[in-house]
Amino acid sequence: MILKDCMSDETRRKISEHPCYSPEAQHKFGRLHLAVAPSCNIQCNYCDRKFDCVNESRPGVTSEVLSPKSALEKTAQILKQHPYIRVVGIAGPGDPLDNDETFETFRLIRENFPDITLCISTNGLLLPDRFSELAESDVETLTVTLNAIDPDIQKEIIDMIYYNGKKYEGREAAEILIENQLKGIQMAVTAGMTVKINTVLIPGINDKHIIEIAKKMNGLGVYIMNVMPLINQAAFADIVPPTDAERKAVQDACAPYVKQMKHCRQCRSDAYGLLGNDLSVEKKASGKELKT
Ligand code: SF4
Ligand code: SF4
Repeated sequence: MILKDCMSDETRRKISEHPCYSPEAQHKFGRLHLAVAPSCNIQCNYCDRKFDCVNESRPGVTSEVLSPKSALEKTAQILKQHPYIRVVGIAGPGDPLDNDETFETFRLIRENFPDITLCISTNGLLLPDRFSELAESDVETLTVTLNAIDPDIQKEIIDMIYYNGKKYEGREAAEILIENQLKGIQMAVTAGMTVKINTVLIPGINDKHIIEIAKKMNGLGVYIMNVMPLINQAAFADIVPPTDAERKAVQDACAPYVKQMKHCRQCRSDAYGLLGNDLSVEKKASGKELKT
Protein backbone atom coordinates (compact mmCIF):
# COMPACT_ATOMS: atom_id res chain seq x y z
CA MET A 1 0.00 0.00 0.00
CA ILE A 2 1.27 3.48 -0.84
CA LEU A 3 1.07 5.88 2.07
CA LYS A 4 1.50 9.62 1.81
CA ASP A 5 5.18 10.56 2.17
CA CYS A 6 4.49 13.49 4.47
CA MET A 7 2.90 11.30 7.14
CA SER A 8 4.64 10.92 10.47
CA ASP A 9 5.52 7.38 11.55
CA GLU A 10 2.79 7.56 14.19
CA THR A 11 0.14 8.62 11.66
CA ARG A 12 1.35 5.92 9.29
CA ARG A 13 0.95 3.30 12.02
CA LYS A 14 -2.52 4.54 12.97
CA ILE A 15 -3.69 4.54 9.34
CA SER A 16 -2.34 1.02 8.88
CA GLU A 17 -4.55 -0.04 11.83
CA HIS A 18 -7.68 1.83 10.68
CA PRO A 19 -10.03 -0.72 9.08
CA CYS A 20 -11.61 1.83 6.72
CA TYR A 21 -8.42 3.56 5.60
CA SER A 22 -6.40 0.38 5.09
CA PRO A 23 -7.86 -2.66 3.28
CA GLU A 24 -5.24 -4.85 4.97
CA ALA A 25 -6.38 -3.68 8.42
CA GLN A 26 -10.03 -4.61 7.94
CA HIS A 27 -9.50 -8.26 8.91
CA LYS A 28 -7.31 -7.54 11.94
CA PHE A 29 -8.46 -4.30 13.52
CA GLY A 30 -11.91 -3.04 14.43
CA ARG A 31 -13.79 0.19 14.99
CA LEU A 32 -16.43 1.30 17.46
CA HIS A 33 -19.06 3.84 16.47
CA LEU A 34 -20.66 5.84 19.27
CA ALA A 35 -24.18 7.04 18.37
CA VAL A 36 -24.19 10.27 20.37
CA ALA A 37 -25.21 12.72 17.60
CA PRO A 38 -28.94 12.65 16.72
CA SER A 39 -29.51 16.06 15.12
CA CYS A 40 -28.65 17.06 11.56
CA ASN A 41 -28.45 20.47 9.89
CA ILE A 42 -29.14 19.43 6.30
CA GLN A 43 -31.67 17.26 4.50
CA CYS A 44 -30.27 14.85 1.95
CA ASN A 45 -32.85 13.55 -0.50
CA TYR A 46 -31.77 9.96 0.21
CA CYS A 47 -32.20 10.27 3.98
CA ASP A 48 -35.14 9.14 6.05
CA ARG A 49 -34.59 10.64 9.50
CA LYS A 50 -36.27 7.67 11.17
CA PHE A 51 -33.09 5.79 10.39
CA ASP A 52 -29.36 6.30 10.84
CA CYS A 53 -27.40 8.78 8.76
CA VAL A 54 -27.05 7.22 5.33
CA ASN A 55 -23.51 8.56 5.30
CA GLU A 56 -22.46 5.67 7.49
CA SER A 57 -25.37 3.31 7.84
CA ARG A 58 -27.90 1.07 6.28
CA PRO A 59 -31.61 1.68 6.36
CA GLY A 60 -34.29 0.09 8.46
CA VAL A 61 -32.31 0.12 11.67
CA THR A 62 -32.82 2.70 14.36
CA SER A 63 -30.03 3.53 16.81
CA GLU A 64 -30.14 4.07 20.51
CA VAL A 65 -28.72 7.52 21.14
CA LEU A 66 -26.14 7.53 23.92
CA SER A 67 -25.13 10.31 26.30
CA PRO A 68 -21.37 11.08 26.38
CA LYS A 69 -21.11 9.39 29.77
CA SER A 70 -22.89 6.24 28.53
CA ALA A 71 -20.68 6.31 25.43
CA LEU A 72 -17.59 6.30 27.64
CA GLU A 73 -18.93 3.38 29.67
CA LYS A 74 -19.76 1.47 26.50
CA THR A 75 -16.29 2.18 25.12
CA ALA A 76 -14.59 0.90 28.28
CA GLN A 77 -16.63 -2.29 28.21
CA ILE A 78 -16.14 -2.98 24.50
CA LEU A 79 -12.43 -2.16 24.36
CA LYS A 80 -11.84 -4.52 27.27
CA GLN A 81 -13.66 -7.34 25.46
CA HIS A 82 -12.30 -6.52 22.00
CA PRO A 83 -8.75 -5.16 22.29
CA TYR A 84 -8.28 -5.36 18.49
CA ILE A 85 -10.54 -2.28 18.19
CA ARG A 86 -8.18 0.63 17.47
CA VAL A 87 -10.60 3.32 16.29
CA VAL A 88 -13.46 5.07 18.11
CA GLY A 89 -15.62 7.13 15.77
CA ILE A 90 -18.75 9.27 15.79
CA ALA A 91 -20.81 8.93 12.62
CA GLY A 92 -24.37 9.81 13.53
CA PRO A 93 -27.17 9.00 13.56
CA GLY A 94 -27.30 12.69 12.48
CA ASP A 95 -24.38 15.01 11.81
CA PRO A 96 -21.72 14.85 14.55
CA LEU A 97 -20.71 18.51 14.20
CA ASP A 98 -24.32 19.60 14.81
CA ASN A 99 -24.23 18.03 18.29
CA ASP A 100 -22.22 19.38 21.25
CA GLU A 101 -22.28 15.86 22.70
CA THR A 102 -19.76 14.85 20.02
CA PHE A 103 -17.05 17.05 21.50
CA GLU A 104 -17.80 16.05 25.08
CA THR A 105 -17.64 12.40 24.04
CA PHE A 106 -14.29 12.85 22.28
CA ARG A 107 -12.95 14.64 25.38
CA LEU A 108 -13.97 11.77 27.66
CA ILE A 109 -12.62 9.08 25.33
CA ARG A 110 -9.28 10.83 24.80
CA GLU A 111 -8.88 11.40 28.55
CA ASN A 112 -9.43 7.72 29.27
CA PHE A 113 -7.94 6.08 26.17
CA PRO A 114 -4.93 8.14 25.06
CA ASP A 115 -3.81 5.64 22.40
CA ILE A 116 -7.07 5.11 20.55
CA THR A 117 -7.56 6.77 17.14
CA LEU A 118 -10.46 9.25 17.17
CA CYS A 119 -12.48 9.41 13.97
CA ILE A 120 -15.48 11.45 12.75
CA SER A 121 -17.80 11.40 9.76
CA THR A 122 -19.67 14.59 8.85
CA ASN A 123 -21.60 16.30 6.08
CA GLY A 124 -19.04 19.10 6.48
CA LEU A 125 -21.41 22.08 6.71
CA LEU A 126 -20.00 23.13 10.09
CA LEU A 127 -16.40 22.06 9.50
CA PRO A 128 -14.88 25.55 9.22
CA ASP A 129 -16.98 26.88 12.13
CA ARG A 130 -16.17 24.04 14.51
CA PHE A 131 -12.73 23.14 13.23
CA SER A 132 -10.79 24.45 16.21
CA GLU A 133 -12.95 22.34 18.57
CA LEU A 134 -12.34 19.31 16.38
CA ALA A 135 -8.60 19.87 16.39
CA GLU A 136 -8.62 20.38 20.16
CA SER A 137 -10.47 17.06 20.47
CA ASP A 138 -7.44 15.38 18.88
CA VAL A 139 -9.50 13.83 16.07
CA GLU A 140 -7.06 12.21 13.65
CA THR A 141 -9.19 10.78 10.85
CA LEU A 142 -11.98 12.78 9.24
CA THR A 143 -14.59 11.70 6.69
CA VAL A 144 -16.65 14.24 4.76
CA THR A 145 -19.61 13.14 2.65
CA LEU A 146 -19.11 15.11 -0.53
CA ASN A 147 -21.57 14.24 -3.27
CA ALA A 148 -20.94 17.14 -5.67
CA ILE A 149 -18.70 20.17 -6.13
CA ASP A 150 -21.06 21.72 -8.69
CA PRO A 151 -23.95 23.58 -6.97
CA ASP A 152 -26.31 22.74 -9.83
CA ILE A 153 -25.78 19.03 -9.08
CA GLN A 154 -25.65 19.40 -5.30
CA LYS A 155 -29.00 21.23 -5.28
CA GLU A 156 -30.60 18.07 -6.71
CA ILE A 157 -29.18 16.00 -3.84
CA ILE A 158 -30.09 18.14 -0.83
CA ASP A 159 -33.47 19.63 -0.02
CA MET A 160 -32.23 22.33 2.36
CA ILE A 161 -29.64 23.31 4.96
CA TYR A 162 -29.87 25.13 8.30
CA TYR A 163 -26.89 27.42 8.77
CA ASN A 164 -26.36 30.20 11.30
CA GLY A 165 -30.01 30.00 12.35
CA LYS A 166 -31.36 30.34 8.82
CA LYS A 167 -32.87 27.88 6.37
CA TYR A 168 -31.47 27.88 2.82
CA GLU A 169 -32.79 25.96 -0.17
CA GLY A 170 -31.90 25.36 -3.82
CA ARG A 171 -28.68 26.63 -5.36
CA GLU A 172 -27.92 28.95 -2.46
CA ALA A 173 -27.97 26.03 0.00
CA ALA A 174 -25.78 23.97 -2.33
CA GLU A 175 -23.23 26.78 -2.70
CA ILE A 176 -22.90 27.27 1.07
CA LEU A 177 -22.55 23.54 1.70
CA ILE A 178 -19.89 23.03 -0.98
CA GLU A 179 -17.92 26.10 0.07
CA ASN A 180 -17.83 24.94 3.69
CA GLN A 181 -17.00 21.34 2.78
CA LEU A 182 -14.03 22.34 0.60
CA LYS A 183 -12.78 24.91 3.08
CA GLY A 184 -13.10 22.40 5.94
CA ILE A 185 -11.28 19.68 4.02
CA GLN A 186 -8.43 22.08 3.28
CA MET A 187 -8.24 23.06 6.95
CA ALA A 188 -8.15 19.42 8.02
CA VAL A 189 -5.41 18.44 5.56
CA THR A 190 -3.35 21.47 6.58
CA ALA A 191 -3.77 20.55 10.25
CA GLY A 192 -2.43 17.04 9.58
CA MET A 193 -5.68 15.06 9.77
CA THR A 194 -6.02 12.15 7.38
CA VAL A 195 -9.10 12.84 5.27
CA LYS A 196 -11.49 10.45 3.59
CA ILE A 197 -14.34 11.43 1.27
CA ASN A 198 -17.58 9.49 1.09
CA THR A 199 -19.41 10.05 -2.18
CA VAL A 200 -22.84 8.52 -2.69
CA LEU A 201 -23.15 7.36 -6.30
CA ILE A 202 -26.61 8.46 -7.48
CA PRO A 203 -27.36 7.30 -11.02
CA GLY A 204 -28.63 10.08 -13.27
CA ILE A 205 -27.60 12.78 -10.79
CA ASN A 206 -23.88 12.72 -9.94
CA ASP A 207 -22.57 9.59 -11.69
CA LYS A 208 -20.82 11.50 -14.48
CA HIS A 209 -19.59 14.19 -12.07
CA ILE A 210 -17.78 12.04 -9.50
CA ILE A 211 -14.53 12.06 -11.48
CA GLU A 212 -14.48 15.86 -11.11
CA ILE A 213 -14.74 15.41 -7.34
CA ALA A 214 -11.79 12.97 -7.46
CA LYS A 215 -9.65 15.46 -9.39
CA LYS A 216 -10.47 18.19 -6.88
CA MET A 217 -9.66 15.90 -3.95
CA ASN A 218 -6.28 15.14 -5.50
CA GLY A 219 -5.50 18.84 -5.39
CA LEU A 220 -6.62 19.14 -1.78
CA GLY A 221 -4.50 16.23 -0.52
CA VAL A 222 -7.34 13.91 0.44
CA TYR A 223 -6.04 10.46 1.39
CA ILE A 224 -8.83 8.15 0.21
CA MET A 225 -12.25 8.25 -1.49
CA ASN A 226 -15.16 5.90 -0.79
CA VAL A 227 -17.73 5.74 -3.60
CA MET A 228 -20.84 4.28 -1.96
CA PRO A 229 -23.93 3.00 -3.79
CA LEU A 230 -27.14 4.92 -3.21
CA ILE A 231 -29.52 3.37 -0.70
CA ASN A 232 -32.77 4.37 -2.37
CA GLN A 233 -35.21 5.74 0.16
CA ALA A 234 -37.03 9.01 0.99
CA ALA A 235 -37.18 11.41 -2.01
CA PHE A 236 -34.80 9.14 -3.94
CA ALA A 237 -36.86 5.99 -3.35
CA ASP A 238 -37.57 5.62 -7.07
CA ILE A 239 -33.95 5.88 -8.25
CA VAL A 240 -32.47 2.51 -9.11
CA PRO A 241 -29.18 2.08 -7.18
CA PRO A 242 -26.01 1.53 -9.21
CA THR A 243 -24.90 -2.01 -10.01
CA ASP A 244 -21.57 -3.28 -8.69
CA ALA A 245 -20.17 -2.92 -12.22
CA GLU A 246 -21.31 0.71 -12.45
CA ARG A 247 -19.74 1.51 -9.11
CA LYS A 248 -16.50 -0.24 -10.09
CA ALA A 249 -16.35 1.77 -13.34
CA VAL A 250 -16.61 5.02 -11.35
CA GLN A 251 -13.97 3.84 -8.86
CA ASP A 252 -11.62 2.86 -11.68
CA ALA A 253 -12.06 6.24 -13.35
CA CYS A 254 -11.31 8.05 -10.07
CA ALA A 255 -8.38 5.84 -8.99
CA PRO A 256 -5.68 7.79 -10.91
CA TYR A 257 -6.58 10.88 -8.88
CA VAL A 258 -7.29 9.56 -5.38
CA LYS A 259 -6.89 6.15 -3.74
CA GLN A 260 -10.18 4.24 -3.68
CA MET A 261 -11.75 2.48 -0.69
CA LYS A 262 -13.50 -0.62 -2.03
CA HIS A 263 -14.35 -2.50 1.16
CA CYS A 264 -16.94 -0.20 2.79
CA ARG A 265 -19.76 -2.04 4.58
CA GLN A 266 -22.10 0.95 4.98
CA CYS A 267 -22.16 0.41 8.72
CA ARG A 268 -24.67 1.46 11.34
CA SER A 269 -23.82 4.44 13.53
CA ASP A 270 -23.53 2.10 16.53
CA ALA A 271 -21.49 -0.62 14.78
CA TYR A 272 -18.48 -2.20 16.48
CA GLY A 273 -16.04 -5.03 15.85
CA LEU A 274 -14.47 -5.97 12.52
CA LEU A 275 -16.03 -4.38 9.43
CA GLY A 276 -17.37 -7.69 8.16
CA ASN A 277 -18.68 -8.77 11.55
CA ASP A 278 -20.77 -6.03 13.15
CA LEU A 279 -21.20 -7.19 16.73
CA SER A 280 -23.90 -4.57 17.43
CA VAL A 281 -26.20 -6.43 15.02
CA GLU A 282 -25.26 -9.78 16.54
CA LYS A 283 -25.99 -8.56 20.07
CA LYS A 284 -29.34 -7.07 19.06
CA ALA A 285 -30.36 -10.26 17.24
CA SER A 286 -29.47 -12.43 20.23
CA GLY A 287 -31.11 -10.05 22.71
CA LYS A 288 -27.79 -9.76 24.56
CA GLU A 289 -27.21 -6.11 23.84
CA LEU A 290 -24.58 -4.45 26.00
CA LYS A 291 -26.07 -2.64 28.95
CA THR A 292 -24.40 0.71 29.53
FE1 SF4 B 1 -29.43 12.31 6.75
FE2 SF4 B 1 -26.80 12.20 7.18
FE3 SF4 B 1 -27.77 13.67 5.14
FE4 SF4 B 1 -28.11 14.46 7.67
S1 SF4 B 1 -26.15 14.27 6.57
S2 SF4 B 1 -29.68 14.42 6.08
S3 SF4 B 1 -28.44 12.51 8.77
S4 SF4 B 1 -27.88 11.41 5.34
FE1 SF4 C 1 -15.77 2.22 7.42
FE2 SF4 C 1 -17.61 2.32 5.49
FE3 SF4 C 1 -18.23 1.37 7.89
FE4 SF4 C 1 -17.71 3.98 7.60
S1 SF4 C 1 -19.44 2.87 6.73
S2 SF4 C 1 -16.99 2.63 9.26
S3 SF4 C 1 -16.14 3.92 5.99
S4 SF4 C 1 -16.77 0.47 6.46
